[in-house]
Parts: sequence; C-alpha cells; structure tokens
Amino acid sequence: MAAALNEFELIRRFFSPLSAADENVVCGIGDDCALLALAPGEQLATSVDSMVAGRHFPVDADPGKLGWRCLAAATSDLAACGARPLGFTLALTLPSADESWLAAFASGLGEAARAFELPLVGGDTTRGPLTLSLQVLGSVSAGAALRRSGARDGDHIWVSGSLGDARAALDLLDRDIAGLHSGQALLDRYWRPQPRLALGRALVGIASAAIDVSDGLAADLQHILECSGVGADLHAGALPLSDALRHHYSAEQATAYALGGGDDYELCFTAAPEQGARLQALALELQLPLSRIGAITAAPGLRCTDAGGRPLALQYAGFQHF
Ligand code: ADP
Ligand code: MG
Repeated sequence: MAAALNEFELIRRFFSPLSAADENVVCGIGDDCALLALAPGEQLATSVDSMVAGRHFPVDADPGKLGWRCLAAATSDLAACGARPLGFTLALTLPSADESWLAAFASGLGEAARAFELPLVGGDTTRGPLTLSLQVLGSVSAGAALRRSGARDGDHIWVSGSLGDARAALDLLDRDIAGLHSGQALLDRYWRPQPRLALGRALVGIASAAIDVSDGLAADLQHILECSGVGADLHAGALPLSDALRHHYSAEQATAYALGGGDDYELCFTAAPEQGARLQALALELQLPLSRIGAITAAPGLRCTDAGGRPLALQYAGFQHF
C-alpha cells in the first residue's frame, strides 16, 4: 500500500493546480494569507457556505459531482449580488486522505473553477467528518451590488431559467431511473447547477433587488419582501417549469416543487415595470429565459394565485436548519 498522503502533499497534488494564474491574485496557495488585488472604487463581496455529509449531500455522493455542486452553490451568492468572481478558499474536513476520492473531487471542483473563472487561492485541511466549507470572493463597483432591500411597490418580480427541477431530482436520487433521458435532465439540475454570474452582473443598474433561489422561491422571495418592507402577489401559472419536470409530475406537484423546492440556484429579482423591454433583450442576449411571475405590493405578505386566479396556499417554508 502506498504511504499515507501527508497534508502538504495532499494540497500540492490536488488543490494547488486549481490556483490558476490570474491577474487579481497577487499571492495564492502557499503563504499565510492569499492576497487579491481590488481595482480602485471596487468593494469586496464575500460569502461562505458549509456543506456537511449526511446533511447537505449523501455520504456516498459521487465526489466529482460534489466538487462541481459545492462550488456552483457557493458561487451563486456572487451572482445574486452582481459581483465579478475573484477567487475562493476551501476548508476541507476529511475522514481520511483517500486518493481516489480526492482526485475525483478536485477534478469536479477544478472544472467548476475554470467554468466560473474562479481560482482557488487558499484553504485549510483537517481530519474529521466530511465537511466542505467554501468562501467565495468577488468584486463589485462601490454601491452597485444587488441587494435584497431595494424592491418597491409596483416593481415586477422575475425569475431566471426554470424552477423545481433540483427538488424533483431528490425524488430520483435513490431510484434507478437515471438512465431515462428526462430523469437525467432533472438530476443534472441538482448536481450541475449553473450560477447565473452573467445575468447577475447584467442586472446591476436594472434590478431593484435580487436573491438566488437556494431554499425555494417562496422562502427566498420572502427575504426580499422582509428586507424591502413590501409584499407581493405571485402568479403560480407564470412559474417557468421545464419539460422534464412537466413530464414526470402533475401540474400541481410541479408547481409545488417550483414554489417550495430549493437548490435551483436561479436568480429571483425585482425591477421597475419600464425595465421589461431591457430584460427581454437581456434574456435573448444571454440565451436564458427570464419570466415575469408577479408584482411587488405596498401591502405586506406573500399572496399566490393559481393559473385560474384562485388563492393558492404556500405549503413550503424553505429549508430550516434548526
Ligand atoms: P497555515 O498554517 O499558515 O494556516 P496551512 O499549513 O494550513 O497554513 O496551509 C498552507 C497553505 O495551503 C496555505 O496557503 C493555505 O491557504 C493552503 N491550503 C491549505 N489547505 C488547502 C485546501 N484544502 N485547498 C487550498 N489551499 C489550501
Ligand atoms: Mg491554516
């Protein structure tokens, strides 16, 4: 058997290669601190996400898929703020230095890092129950970041892409139907989310408020409403549902997943009605559907109506850790 990998060899072999040369990275992996350059007039946008095996992903999850998913989920917060990616750090707690697990994890993580142009600039490696903590760092012009607090009475509510697919994938994770084409499309939404970085940046100056859909549309929109001191009318009939979701579920179940399911990592945002034409042009330019799903109201609370205009009870409160 090969000698156990020590901490520094492990970092050098699996993680240093993810620290691509980048004009913003003055110093990456290998010193006490990473040093990143910020252009004059820019602010640092930063967010950290921890994912615990058995809690946020199955203990036996495919490490390559896990690598992509954990960086995509973390990077989605940069997208929601309209930030440009600068880099990320990785605090890794591992039960053992399993080389094949590490090689596959680093490969999935590296693929995502290249796709999002986000170099790995540092981290920490310890032994314990499998836990992944990723801190993403981004840059945004001073005062320009998209916030949850800017929604105003009369603004329209929009969402990117389609909703509910990642929640539906949870039903399929332990079933052997991955071979079915449409089932695979749902599983891909869970394992390979696409943080909407280009959309987020383009929304600076257009959107009045934004959030990424990680806990479920209703729960995440509630955060915008609370931070902005407003309410909303949501039209469930306007929710964007994928063909795969419609194929596998009744309209009612698909709508429930779109409203309550998390992990889609789409952006939900608000904008003044006169921005509608710019948003439609942006959807074409980015080849990403943008759907108008409701309106902000001065009256507090979130009300939802179905396709026939009847009130629809919101059953899901989003993912609660405690
Ligand atoms: P220190 O003791 O100064 O905190 P470490 O010995 O923990 O430094 O780490 C050495 C270098 O390797 C540092 O630059 C650190 O950021 C980097 N590093 C440690 N673990 C990881 C990891 N999992 N991924 C990327 N970089 C890492
Ligand atoms: Mg350290």
